[in-house]
Amino acid sequence: MTSFSKQQEMQLKFQQQMDEEELLNCMRCGFCLPSCPTYLESGQQETHSPRGRIALMKAVRDGVIEIDKDVEHSLNLCLGCRACEPVCPSGVKYGRLLEEARDIIQQHKKQSFPVKLIRRAVFKGLFPYQRRMRSVAGWLRFYQISGLQTAAHKTGILKVLPPHLQLMERALPKVPRQQKTNSRLTEYKAIGATRKRVAFFSGCLMDTMFFNTNEATIYLLRLAGCDVVTPSRQTCCGALHGHSGEKNLAKQLAKRNIVAFEETDVDAIVMNAGGCGAFLKDYDHLLKDDPSFHQRSEAFSQKIKDLSEILVELDFHQRVHLALPEQIITYQDSCHLRNGMGVHHAPRLLMKAIAGVSLREMKDADRCCGSAGIYNLLQPNMSMHILDHKMTEVSNTLATTIVTSNPGCQLQMVAGIERSGDTSKLSAVHLADLLVEAVQYGKKASG
Ligand code: SF4
Ligand code: SF4
Repeated sequence: MTSFSKQQEMQLKFQQQMDEEELLNCMRCGFCLPSCPTYLESGQQETHSPRGRIALMKAVRDGVIEIDKDVEHSLNLCLGCRACEPVCPSGVKYGRLLEEARDIIQQHKKQSFPVKLIRRAVFKGLFPYQRRMRSVAGWLRFYQISGLQTAAHKTGILKVLPPHLQLMERALPKVPRQQKTNSRLTEYKAIGATRKRVAFFSGCLMDTMFFNTNEATIYLLRLAGCDVVTPSRQTCCGALHGHSGEKNLAKQLAKRNIVAFEETDVDAIVMNAGGCGAFLKDYDHLLKDDPSFHQRSEAFSQKIKDLSEILVELDFHQRVHLALPEQIITYQDSCHLRNGMGVHHAPRLLMKAIAGVSLREMKDADRCCGSAGIYNLLQPNMSMHILDHKMTEVSNTLATTIVTSNPGCQLQMVAGIERSGDTSKLSAVHLADLLVEAVQYGKKASG
Protein backbone atom coordinates (compact mmCIF):
# COMPACT_ATOMS: atom_id res chain seq x y z
CA MET A 1 0.00 0.00 0.00
CA THR A 2 2.85 2.35 0.93
CA SER A 3 4.68 1.82 -2.35
CA PHE A 4 1.39 2.20 -4.27
CA SER A 5 0.74 5.63 -2.78
CA LYS A 6 4.35 6.60 -3.35
CA GLN A 7 3.89 5.74 -7.03
CA GLN A 8 0.75 7.86 -7.14
CA GLU A 9 2.59 10.72 -5.51
CA MET A 10 5.44 10.47 -8.02
CA GLN A 11 3.02 10.34 -10.91
CA LEU A 12 1.28 13.44 -9.59
CA LYS A 13 4.65 15.21 -9.34
CA PHE A 14 5.44 14.13 -12.91
CA GLN A 15 2.14 15.70 -14.00
CA GLN A 16 2.75 18.89 -12.04
CA GLN A 17 6.45 19.40 -12.62
CA MET A 18 7.43 17.81 -15.94
CA ASP A 19 7.11 20.21 -18.85
CA GLU A 20 4.34 18.63 -20.94
CA GLU A 21 5.11 20.73 -23.99
CA GLU A 22 8.73 19.62 -23.91
CA LEU A 23 7.69 15.96 -23.62
CA LEU A 24 5.26 16.31 -26.51
CA ASN A 25 7.88 18.13 -28.58
CA CYS A 26 9.65 14.84 -29.16
CA MET A 27 8.30 13.58 -32.48
CA ARG A 28 10.15 10.28 -32.11
CA CYS A 29 12.22 10.86 -35.27
CA GLY A 30 15.32 9.20 -33.81
CA PHE A 31 17.79 11.79 -35.15
CA CYS A 32 19.34 11.85 -31.70
CA LEU A 33 20.08 8.12 -31.53
CA PRO A 34 23.50 8.11 -33.27
CA SER A 35 24.70 10.84 -30.90
CA CYS A 36 23.80 9.02 -27.70
CA PRO A 37 26.75 7.14 -26.16
CA THR A 38 24.59 4.93 -23.93
CA TYR A 39 22.37 3.92 -26.85
CA LEU A 40 25.42 2.94 -28.90
CA GLU A 41 27.29 1.24 -26.05
CA SER A 42 24.26 -0.74 -24.92
CA GLY A 43 23.85 -2.37 -28.33
CA GLN A 44 21.23 0.16 -29.46
CA GLN A 45 18.68 -0.45 -26.73
CA GLU A 46 15.78 1.96 -27.10
CA THR A 47 15.39 2.40 -23.33
CA HIS A 48 18.97 3.69 -23.20
CA SER A 49 18.36 6.29 -25.90
CA PRO A 50 17.07 9.89 -25.54
CA ARG A 51 13.89 9.00 -27.45
CA GLY A 52 13.29 5.96 -25.25
CA ARG A 53 13.90 7.88 -22.04
CA ILE A 54 11.54 10.66 -23.08
CA ALA A 55 8.90 8.01 -23.90
CA LEU A 56 9.38 6.50 -20.43
CA MET A 57 9.02 9.90 -18.72
CA LYS A 58 5.86 10.56 -20.71
CA ALA A 59 4.45 7.12 -19.94
CA VAL A 60 5.02 7.73 -16.21
CA ARG A 61 3.37 11.12 -16.49
CA ASP A 62 0.38 9.63 -18.31
CA GLY A 63 0.04 6.87 -15.73
CA VAL A 64 0.75 4.14 -18.29
CA ILE A 65 3.70 2.74 -16.35
CA GLU A 66 5.08 2.99 -12.84
CA ILE A 67 8.61 3.96 -11.88
CA ASP A 68 10.16 0.56 -11.39
CA LYS A 69 13.80 -0.54 -11.32
CA ASP A 70 13.99 -0.61 -15.14
CA VAL A 71 12.80 2.98 -15.49
CA GLU A 72 15.23 4.10 -12.80
CA HIS A 73 18.06 2.16 -14.43
CA SER A 74 17.33 3.76 -17.79
CA LEU A 75 17.46 7.27 -16.29
CA ASN A 76 20.47 6.52 -14.10
CA LEU A 77 22.44 5.19 -17.05
CA CYS A 78 22.01 8.47 -18.90
CA LEU A 79 25.22 10.51 -18.79
CA GLY A 80 23.36 13.80 -18.90
CA CYS A 81 25.84 14.79 -21.61
CA ARG A 82 23.11 16.50 -23.66
CA ALA A 83 24.65 15.36 -26.97
CA CYS A 84 21.05 14.66 -27.99
CA GLU A 85 20.09 18.34 -27.79
CA PRO A 86 22.00 20.08 -30.60
CA VAL A 87 20.98 17.39 -33.13
CA CYS A 88 17.28 17.43 -32.24
CA PRO A 89 15.18 19.09 -34.99
CA SER A 90 12.42 19.84 -32.47
CA GLY A 91 14.80 21.51 -30.06
CA VAL A 92 13.79 19.24 -27.14
CA LYS A 93 15.58 20.41 -24.01
CA TYR A 94 16.32 16.90 -22.84
CA GLY A 95 18.68 17.95 -20.03
CA ARG A 96 15.91 19.83 -18.24
CA LEU A 97 13.51 16.88 -18.53
CA LEU A 98 16.12 14.53 -17.12
CA GLU A 99 16.94 16.88 -14.25
CA GLU A 100 13.28 17.20 -13.28
CA ALA A 101 12.59 13.45 -13.49
CA ARG A 102 15.65 12.59 -11.42
CA ASP A 103 14.71 15.18 -8.82
CA ILE A 104 11.19 13.77 -8.39
CA ILE A 105 12.47 10.19 -8.13
CA GLN A 106 15.21 11.17 -5.70
CA GLN A 107 12.77 13.00 -3.42
CA HIS A 108 10.58 9.89 -3.17
CA LYS A 109 13.32 7.32 -2.94
CA LYS A 110 13.61 5.22 0.19
CA GLN A 111 17.25 5.41 1.15
CA SER A 112 19.22 3.47 3.70
CA PHE A 113 20.52 5.48 6.64
CA PRO A 114 24.20 5.39 5.50
CA VAL A 115 23.28 6.58 1.98
CA LYS A 116 21.20 9.42 3.45
CA LEU A 117 24.09 10.34 5.70
CA ILE A 118 26.65 10.36 2.88
CA ARG A 119 24.40 12.41 0.58
CA ARG A 120 23.74 14.90 3.37
CA ALA A 121 27.43 15.18 4.24
CA VAL A 122 28.54 15.64 0.62
CA PHE A 123 25.76 17.79 -0.83
CA LYS A 124 24.84 19.84 2.22
CA GLY A 125 27.88 19.74 4.44
CA LEU A 126 30.83 19.81 2.04
CA PHE A 127 30.41 21.28 -1.44
CA PRO A 128 28.76 24.55 -0.39
CA TYR A 129 31.61 25.36 2.01
CA GLN A 130 34.94 26.23 0.47
CA ARG A 131 36.81 26.00 3.77
CA ARG A 132 35.65 22.44 4.28
CA MET A 133 36.55 21.60 0.67
CA ARG A 134 40.03 22.93 1.40
CA SER A 135 40.32 20.85 4.57
CA VAL A 136 39.40 17.70 2.66
CA ALA A 137 41.93 18.64 -0.01
CA GLY A 138 44.46 19.17 2.81
CA TRP A 139 43.97 15.57 3.96
CA LEU A 140 44.37 14.39 0.43
CA ARG A 141 47.60 16.35 0.14
CA PHE A 142 48.84 14.78 3.37
CA TYR A 143 48.07 11.34 1.91
CA GLN A 144 49.98 12.25 -1.26
CA ILE A 145 53.11 13.77 0.28
CA SER A 146 53.50 11.93 3.59
CA GLY A 147 54.56 8.67 1.96
CA LEU A 148 51.18 7.08 2.67
CA GLN A 149 50.27 6.99 -1.01
CA THR A 150 53.60 5.43 -1.97
CA ALA A 151 53.21 2.86 0.80
CA ALA A 152 49.65 2.10 -0.24
CA HIS A 153 50.80 1.48 -3.81
CA LYS A 154 53.78 -0.64 -2.72
CA THR A 155 51.79 -2.86 -0.36
CA GLY A 156 48.88 -3.22 -2.78
CA ILE A 157 46.44 -2.43 0.02
CA LEU A 158 44.32 -0.38 -2.40
CA LYS A 159 43.38 -3.61 -4.16
CA VAL A 160 40.53 -3.89 -1.62
CA LEU A 161 38.89 -1.05 -3.57
CA PRO A 162 36.86 -1.71 -6.73
CA PRO A 163 39.03 -1.31 -9.88
CA HIS A 164 37.45 1.99 -10.96
CA LEU A 165 38.21 3.57 -7.57
CA GLN A 166 41.81 2.34 -7.72
CA LEU A 167 42.05 3.99 -11.12
CA MET A 168 40.59 7.27 -9.87
CA GLU A 169 43.01 7.28 -6.94
CA ARG A 170 45.90 7.13 -9.42
CA ALA A 171 44.33 9.84 -11.58
CA LEU A 172 43.99 12.42 -8.78
CA PRO A 173 46.07 15.56 -9.35
CA LYS A 174 48.73 16.64 -6.86
CA VAL A 175 46.94 18.89 -4.37
CA PRO A 176 48.71 22.22 -3.73
CA ARG A 177 49.65 23.45 -0.23
CA GLN A 178 46.77 24.93 1.78
CA GLN A 179 48.84 28.07 2.31
CA LYS A 180 48.76 28.53 -1.42
CA THR A 181 45.03 27.88 -1.81
CA ASN A 182 44.35 30.37 0.99
CA SER A 183 46.30 33.07 -0.83
CA ARG A 184 43.60 33.97 -3.36
CA LEU A 185 43.01 37.73 -3.60
CA THR A 186 39.63 39.29 -4.34
CA GLU A 187 40.93 41.80 -6.92
CA TYR A 188 43.64 41.53 -9.58
CA LYS A 189 44.72 44.30 -11.94
CA ALA A 190 45.12 43.73 -15.67
CA ILE A 191 48.68 43.30 -16.95
CA GLY A 192 48.94 46.39 -19.15
CA ALA A 193 45.96 48.54 -20.04
CA THR A 194 42.54 47.54 -18.70
CA ARG A 195 40.16 46.52 -21.48
CA LYS A 196 37.46 44.78 -19.45
CA ARG A 197 36.42 44.19 -15.89
CA VAL A 198 35.39 40.59 -15.28
CA ALA A 199 34.53 38.37 -12.32
CA PHE A 200 35.99 34.90 -12.05
CA PHE A 201 33.82 32.00 -10.92
CA SER A 202 36.41 29.85 -9.16
CA GLY A 203 34.24 26.81 -8.37
CA CYS A 204 34.54 24.40 -5.46
CA LEU A 205 36.62 21.52 -6.79
CA MET A 206 38.47 23.77 -9.22
CA ASP A 207 39.64 26.02 -6.41
CA THR A 208 41.09 23.17 -4.35
CA MET A 209 42.40 20.27 -6.39
CA PHE A 210 42.77 22.32 -9.58
CA PHE A 211 43.92 25.51 -7.87
CA ASN A 212 46.88 25.88 -10.23
CA THR A 213 44.53 25.83 -13.23
CA ASN A 214 42.50 28.60 -11.60
CA GLU A 215 45.70 30.60 -11.07
CA ALA A 216 46.55 30.05 -14.74
CA THR A 217 43.08 31.28 -15.71
CA ILE A 218 43.39 34.50 -13.70
CA TYR A 219 46.84 35.12 -15.21
CA LEU A 220 45.52 34.66 -18.77
CA LEU A 221 42.61 37.01 -18.11
CA ARG A 222 44.95 39.66 -16.75
CA LEU A 223 47.29 39.21 -19.70
CA ALA A 224 44.32 39.67 -22.04
CA GLY A 225 43.65 43.04 -20.38
CA CYS A 226 41.07 42.19 -17.73
CA ASP A 227 40.76 43.47 -14.19
CA VAL A 228 39.63 40.35 -12.37
CA VAL A 229 37.38 40.17 -9.31
CA THR A 230 36.93 36.92 -7.37
CA PRO A 231 34.03 37.45 -4.94
CA SER A 232 34.85 35.69 -1.67
CA ARG A 233 31.17 34.92 -1.00
CA GLN A 234 30.74 32.82 -4.14
CA THR A 235 30.02 29.13 -3.67
CA CYS A 236 29.67 25.84 -5.54
CA CYS A 237 27.57 26.22 -8.74
CA GLY A 238 25.16 23.48 -7.68
CA ALA A 239 25.52 21.39 -10.86
CA LEU A 240 26.26 18.23 -8.94
CA HIS A 241 23.19 18.85 -6.77
CA GLY A 242 20.96 19.69 -9.71
CA HIS A 243 22.01 16.58 -11.63
CA SER A 244 21.69 14.29 -8.61
CA GLY A 245 18.13 15.05 -7.59
CA GLU A 246 18.90 17.82 -5.08
CA LYS A 247 17.27 20.70 -6.91
CA ASN A 248 16.29 22.69 -3.84
CA LEU A 249 19.87 22.75 -2.65
CA ALA A 250 20.97 23.76 -6.16
CA LYS A 251 18.53 26.68 -6.00
CA GLN A 252 19.93 27.83 -2.66
CA LEU A 253 23.47 27.80 -4.07
CA ALA A 254 22.33 29.63 -7.20
CA LYS A 255 20.83 32.40 -5.08
CA ARG A 256 24.01 32.73 -3.02
CA ASN A 257 26.06 33.07 -6.19
CA ILE A 258 23.73 35.63 -7.74
CA VAL A 259 23.96 37.78 -4.61
CA ALA A 260 27.75 37.42 -4.46
CA PHE A 261 28.28 38.42 -8.11
CA GLU A 262 25.68 41.22 -8.13
CA GLU A 263 28.04 43.22 -5.95
CA THR A 264 30.83 43.10 -8.54
CA ASP A 265 29.61 45.33 -11.40
CA VAL A 266 31.44 43.47 -14.18
CA ASP A 267 31.12 42.97 -17.95
CA ALA A 268 31.26 39.19 -17.72
CA ILE A 269 31.46 36.31 -15.26
CA VAL A 270 34.16 33.95 -16.48
CA MET A 271 34.55 30.28 -15.60
CA ASN A 272 36.90 27.54 -16.76
CA ALA A 273 34.89 24.37 -16.11
CA GLY A 274 32.30 23.40 -18.72
CA GLY A 275 30.20 21.48 -16.18
CA CYS A 276 29.82 24.55 -13.97
CA GLY A 277 29.38 26.95 -16.89
CA ALA A 278 26.35 25.25 -18.41
CA PHE A 279 24.65 25.09 -15.02
CA LEU A 280 25.42 28.74 -14.21
CA LYS A 281 24.07 29.73 -17.59
CA ASP A 282 20.85 27.89 -16.80
CA TYR A 283 20.20 29.67 -13.47
CA ASP A 284 17.47 31.69 -15.20
CA HIS A 285 15.58 28.46 -15.85
CA LEU A 286 16.33 27.02 -12.41
CA LEU A 287 14.88 30.11 -10.72
CA LYS A 288 12.17 30.92 -13.24
CA ASP A 289 9.38 30.48 -10.66
CA ASP A 290 11.07 32.56 -7.97
CA PRO A 291 9.67 36.11 -8.21
CA SER A 292 12.52 37.76 -6.31
CA PHE A 293 15.26 36.03 -8.30
CA HIS A 294 13.84 35.50 -11.77
CA GLN A 295 15.07 38.76 -13.32
CA ARG A 296 18.28 38.74 -11.33
CA SER A 297 19.06 35.21 -12.50
CA GLU A 298 18.51 36.26 -16.12
CA ALA A 299 21.01 39.10 -15.73
CA PHE A 300 23.47 36.67 -14.11
CA SER A 301 23.10 33.98 -16.79
CA GLN A 302 23.64 36.46 -19.61
CA LYS A 303 27.06 37.34 -18.21
CA ILE A 304 28.42 33.77 -18.06
CA LYS A 305 31.34 33.18 -20.42
CA ASP A 306 33.90 30.45 -20.81
CA LEU A 307 37.55 31.48 -20.53
CA SER A 308 38.13 30.60 -24.20
CA GLU A 309 35.27 32.85 -25.35
CA ILE A 310 36.55 35.91 -23.54
CA LEU A 311 40.16 35.33 -24.67
CA VAL A 312 39.06 35.10 -28.30
CA GLU A 313 36.82 38.14 -27.86
CA LEU A 314 39.88 40.09 -26.67
CA ASP A 315 42.09 38.77 -29.52
CA PHE A 316 44.42 37.18 -26.98
CA HIS A 317 45.69 34.64 -29.53
CA GLN A 318 46.69 37.40 -31.92
CA ARG A 319 48.17 39.78 -29.37
CA VAL A 320 50.27 37.31 -27.35
CA HIS A 321 52.96 35.13 -28.89
CA LEU A 322 52.09 31.51 -28.14
CA ALA A 323 54.56 28.72 -28.84
CA LEU A 324 55.47 25.21 -27.66
CA PRO A 325 57.99 22.57 -28.72
CA GLU A 326 56.74 20.68 -31.79
CA GLN A 327 53.99 18.26 -30.85
CA ILE A 328 50.61 16.84 -31.79
CA ILE A 329 47.72 17.60 -29.45
CA THR A 330 44.07 16.59 -29.51
CA TYR A 331 41.04 18.14 -27.84
CA GLN A 332 38.30 16.41 -25.87
CA ASP A 333 35.21 18.62 -25.82
CA SER A 334 33.50 19.13 -22.50
CA CYS A 335 29.91 18.00 -23.17
CA HIS A 336 28.37 20.79 -21.14
CA LEU A 337 30.60 23.44 -22.66
CA ARG A 338 29.73 22.25 -26.15
CA ASN A 339 26.13 21.07 -25.83
CA GLY A 340 25.05 23.34 -22.98
CA MET A 341 26.90 26.56 -23.86
CA GLY A 342 27.57 26.02 -27.56
CA VAL A 343 31.30 26.67 -27.12
CA HIS A 344 33.58 24.56 -29.32
CA HIS A 345 35.13 26.95 -31.81
CA ALA A 346 36.96 29.27 -29.37
CA PRO A 347 39.13 26.62 -27.63
CA ARG A 348 40.20 25.27 -31.01
CA LEU A 349 41.05 28.73 -32.30
CA LEU A 350 43.32 29.30 -29.29
CA MET A 351 45.10 25.96 -29.67
CA LYS A 352 45.61 26.47 -33.40
CA ALA A 353 47.33 29.78 -32.62
CA ILE A 354 50.15 28.05 -30.71
CA ALA A 355 53.24 27.86 -32.92
CA GLY A 356 54.79 24.38 -33.00
CA VAL A 357 51.52 22.68 -32.11
CA SER A 358 49.45 20.63 -34.48
CA LEU A 359 45.85 20.14 -33.35
CA ARG A 360 44.66 16.81 -34.65
CA GLU A 361 40.96 16.13 -34.11
CA MET A 362 40.03 12.72 -32.79
CA LYS A 363 36.94 11.03 -34.19
CA ASP A 364 33.89 11.87 -32.08
CA ALA A 365 35.73 14.48 -30.00
CA ASP A 366 32.29 15.81 -29.13
CA ARG A 367 31.21 12.49 -27.59
CA CYS A 368 31.23 12.20 -23.79
CA CYS A 369 34.33 10.65 -22.23
CA GLY A 370 32.26 8.87 -19.56
CA SER A 371 33.16 11.19 -16.70
CA ALA A 372 29.86 13.10 -16.47
CA GLY A 373 30.12 14.50 -12.95
CA ILE A 374 30.22 11.46 -10.66
CA TYR A 375 28.85 9.08 -13.32
CA ASN A 376 32.23 7.31 -13.48
CA LEU A 377 31.83 6.43 -9.80
CA LEU A 378 28.17 5.44 -9.99
CA GLN A 379 28.13 3.62 -13.36
CA PRO A 380 31.71 2.33 -13.70
CA ASN A 381 31.02 -0.34 -16.33
CA MET A 382 29.39 1.96 -18.86
CA SER A 383 31.85 4.73 -18.02
CA MET A 384 34.86 2.48 -18.68
CA HIS A 385 33.40 1.17 -21.98
CA ILE A 386 32.97 4.73 -23.17
CA LEU A 387 36.44 5.67 -21.94
CA ASP A 388 38.10 2.75 -23.73
CA HIS A 389 36.54 3.82 -27.03
CA LYS A 390 37.68 7.36 -26.39
CA MET A 391 41.27 6.26 -25.74
CA THR A 392 41.31 4.29 -29.01
CA GLU A 393 40.32 7.45 -30.86
CA VAL A 394 42.97 9.44 -28.97
CA SER A 395 45.63 6.94 -29.86
CA ASN A 396 44.64 7.08 -33.57
CA THR A 397 45.60 10.77 -33.62
CA LEU A 398 49.17 10.03 -32.40
CA ALA A 399 48.77 12.98 -30.04
CA THR A 400 51.01 13.26 -26.99
CA THR A 401 48.69 15.65 -25.14
CA ILE A 402 44.93 15.58 -24.59
CA VAL A 403 43.53 19.04 -23.88
CA THR A 404 40.26 19.49 -21.98
CA SER A 405 38.13 22.33 -20.62
CA ASN A 406 36.65 20.69 -17.56
CA PRO A 407 38.23 19.09 -14.47
CA GLY A 408 36.04 15.97 -14.66
CA CYS A 409 37.07 15.35 -18.28
CA GLN A 410 40.72 15.89 -17.34
CA LEU A 411 40.55 13.34 -14.51
CA GLN A 412 38.80 10.86 -16.78
CA MET A 413 41.44 11.36 -19.48
CA VAL A 414 44.21 10.77 -16.93
CA ALA A 415 42.35 7.64 -15.83
CA GLY A 416 42.18 6.57 -19.48
CA ILE A 417 45.93 7.11 -19.86
CA GLU A 418 46.60 5.08 -16.68
CA ARG A 419 44.27 2.36 -17.92
CA SER A 420 45.97 2.17 -21.31
CA GLY A 421 49.43 2.12 -19.69
CA ASP A 422 50.60 5.04 -21.85
CA THR A 423 51.68 7.28 -18.95
CA SER A 424 55.13 8.11 -20.34
CA LYS A 425 53.92 9.02 -23.83
CA LEU A 426 50.63 10.77 -23.18
CA SER A 427 49.37 13.43 -20.79
CA ALA A 428 46.14 15.37 -20.20
CA VAL A 429 46.00 19.09 -19.42
CA HIS A 430 43.45 21.83 -19.02
CA LEU A 431 43.42 24.41 -21.83
CA ALA A 432 44.35 27.19 -19.35
CA ASP A 433 47.50 25.33 -18.26
CA LEU A 434 48.48 24.64 -21.86
CA LEU A 435 48.07 28.32 -22.77
CA VAL A 436 50.18 29.52 -19.84
CA GLU A 437 52.90 27.08 -20.86
CA ALA A 438 52.63 28.44 -24.41
CA VAL A 439 52.93 32.03 -23.16
CA GLN A 440 56.06 31.22 -21.16
CA TYR A 441 57.68 29.17 -23.92
CA GLY A 442 56.71 31.85 -26.45
CA LYS A 443 58.44 34.51 -24.33
CA LYS A 444 61.64 32.45 -24.09
CA ALA A 445 61.57 31.61 -27.79
CA SER A 446 61.30 35.25 -28.79
CA GLY A 447 64.20 36.09 -26.44
S1 SF4 B 1 15.85 14.01 -32.13
FE1 SF4 B 1 14.50 15.15 -30.72
S2 SF4 B 1 12.45 14.83 -31.55
FE2 SF4 B 1 13.75 13.30 -32.51
S3 SF4 B 1 13.56 11.49 -31.18
FE3 SF4 B 1 15.34 12.62 -30.45
S4 SF4 B 1 14.54 13.95 -28.84
FE4 SF4 B 1 12.77 13.24 -30.02
S1 SF4 C 1 22.11 13.13 -22.28
FE1 SF4 C 1 23.68 11.91 -23.39
S2 SF4 C 1 23.46 9.83 -22.57
FE2 SF4 C 1 21.61 10.95 -21.97
S3 SF4 C 1 20.13 10.52 -23.58
FE3 SF4 C 1 21.16 12.44 -24.20
S4 SF4 C 1 22.89 11.76 -25.48
FE4 SF4 C 1 22.15 9.95 -24.38
